[in-house]
Amino acid sequence: MKSFFMSATAATAIATSGFAQNSEERPNLEKLLKSLTLDEKIGQMVQLDLSVVAVPNSSPISLDEKKLREALVTYKISSFINNGVNHALTVDEWHYVNKTIQDMIHAETPHKIPLLYGIDSIHGATFIRDSTLFPQNIAMAATRDPDLTQRCAEISARETRAAGLRWTFAPVLDVGRQPLWARFPETFGEDPFLAAALGVATVRGFQGEDVGSPASVAACMKHYVGYSFPFNGKDRSPALMPDWYLREYFLPPFREAVKAGAKTVMINSGEINGEPVHASKYLLTDVLRSELGFKGVIVSDWEDIIRLHTKHHVAATPAEAVRLAVDAGLDMSMVPLDYSFAKLLKQLVRDGKISEKRIDQSVRRILRLKADVGLFKNPYVESETAGNFRKPDYHKVALEAAEAAITLLKNKGNALPLSTSTKVLVTGPAANSVSALHGCWSYTWQGSNEKFYPKNTRTIVDAIREKIGESNVLYRLGAKFDGSAKDLEAAVSDAANADAIILCLGEDAYAETPGDLNDFNLPDSQQELAKRLTGTGKPVILVLVEGRGRVIREIEPGARAILLAYWPGSQGAEAIANVLFGDMNPSGKLPFTYARYPNHLVTYDRKYTSRIDEIEPPEGHTSEEYTPQFEFGSGLSYTTFEYRNLKLSGTRLTPRTKITVSVDLENTGKRSGRETVELYTHQLTASITPPLKRLRAFHKIELQPGESKTVKFELAAPDVAFVNAQSKLVAEPGEFEVMIADLKKNFRFEK
Ligand code: BGC
Repeated sequence: MKSFFMSATAATAIATSGFAQNSEERPNLEKLLKSLTLDEKIGQMVQLDLSVVAVPNSSPISLDEKKLREALVTYKISSFINNGVNHALTVDEWHYVNKTIQDMIHAETPHKIPLLYGIDSIHGATFIRDSTLFPQNIAMAATRDPDLTQRCAEISARETRAAGLRWTFAPVLDVGRQPLWARFPETFGEDPFLAAALGVATVRGFQGEDVGSPASVAACMKHYVGYSFPFNGKDRSPALMPDWYLREYFLPPFREAVKAGAKTVMINSGEINGEPVHASKYLLTDVLRSELGFKGVIVSDWEDIIRLHTKHHVAATPAEAVRLAVDAGLDMSMVPLDYSFAKLLKQLVRDGKISEKRIDQSVRRILRLKADVGLFKNPYVESETAGNFRKPDYHKVALEAAEAAITLLKNKGNALPLSTSTKVLVTGPAANSVSALHGCWSYTWQGSNEKFYPKNTRTIVDAIREKIGESNVLYRLGAKFDGSAKDLEAAVSDAANADAIILCLGEDAYAETPGDLNDFNLPDSQQELAKRLTGTGKPVILVLVEGRGRVIREIEPGARAILLAYWPGSQGAEAIANVLFGDMNPSGKLPFTYARYPNHLVTYDRKYTSRIDEIEPPEGHTSEEYTPQFEFGSGLSYTTFEYRNLKLSGTRLTPRTKITVSVDLENTGKRSGRETVELYTHQLTASITPPLKRLRAFHKIELQPGESKTVKFELAAPDVAFVNAQSKLVAEPGEFEVMIADLKKNFRFEK
């Protein structure tokens, strides 16, 4: 038998030359489906991790021919995921992987159905060495800029496809309403409207006009649905929520992304109201397929079918787990470490517990996806993708995104921007950390191994040295992320020789369960460092580099200025330096409510009863129900804006009419700046207790000093609708307020 094994470098030249292309552009899929054996069909539903066929610890990566043959020829599997070695591979290594796999399929399988590779390209092409990593979603949400979000996704798609990979497990459309959750940074924040807008922009960026084009990849909405609301805050732990709540706050981004044409969806690993979502026919078939009209491929999350038996205990046997999931509507199993799914599914078909017709439904969808991404036309790395990796332009977009995200939360006495002649002490665990600038899914799953980052990635202290000169910068670690103190005393004595202290605190990278928390406070030793530095009397500029809003109540008063940088990605250091020293005017808006206390976690769209005082509150307590450290939508600028003349074109809205809302915005300061105008509504009385405000529209504009513009929005009935107790989306007649900044007007909705 011919061997297709060669080195990664040798494979590249051939892989990009279009060798052994399939002649059929898009075969007749029904005909193909009919010609498949049961084993071939079941194989199409199997996705394995590449580690199953990779030579352990090989570098460059090498695939084990025998194991690969077992996967592709014996079990006829459909898809691989990730990289087999737990860190990013070079583009050449990916080309070798692509060619080795597709060659074997071409030579040794009867129907030559190309393999579809799926990969976590989360905030850029995570698993490709030297790819461009963008800010995490939570930071993208702060930009309030769907166009910029789309451009970042377009680049991520180009780089992913240039490596021969055509399917990304993104975007995360889980709405971040549980701030303790370790995957909070992967979300677009706490508001469903914002998450839907940016989710749709990401899907468009990934898939483009034609997902078959060499610049596109298929998107995967995840993790459908309700994953982001674990009751106790721990990843993959139970969620409890009534159907209307799920539909009101968690379903909208998925609904909109389905409308935008997202090709695939991944399922929530957790349970809702006692039912694991992987076993929920209601959520997968009735809601997702019948109601939302989703026609694409449903893939499980990692090992989540067998976990119906091993972890959730709703299936008495592994076979029952497979039956439940397939019956619920799953198309592809991310098994991903063995052949159990294929064997069990075959037995279930033989025993008459699952029909072959049901298998056909899934295989049809999977084949269609493969055709859509152009795999039948050319399963190899397309020559057109050759220039699409790590272009200098990509870094500019990553910088633009990081700058647009940075959120100025406090600026007492205009402490910022600093002059470039300021002598600064740069300190804190995030000051000289590459991994903390990137967070999860950065060249490794956890993102914490700095060995795999591009060598020229800069830290905050590097970027500051570059901007104001080495001689103006003192650096000390001060404290470690995990709470263990380091050279705190040295940092304090260094402060005596500086004009200002740039204190970089926050969270190092983490992903999924390793990021679970028992204490939402910023670790003690970081806070201790802040307090000691405040005690020196030198102005403290706090730069927060974190995925979640860790509680800083005790140290906030000591900071003159606070910049929230989130996990800003590869150009984060430069972006932070640009904002600190005034080359960039910040415009980020907080996409979540920054909590003041670990035990007071409230979202901005809270209810009247979020806090009730039956008696006069005791001294020192407030009866105010919403007293976060910083509100959703907070974000200052180096200029000032004034809102005036909120006007409505009418005061009566009906299902057939619209109201135009307009407001004048003026830049009343001395430099140009960008501001996001946010429109909220509030229904005074409704059949489900109404939230005090809901974001309905936003628009970011730029104004020169002295310039003013009128911003207009159209309000229609769907903008005032909500899901009622019967799970129906309704607009109920009644009184409403529309709010922009601190301006307010009333209107009525009538049937
Ligand atoms: C995560 C998914 C991810 C998958 C494959 C799972 O642990 O929940 O978000 O896409 O692994 O890496």
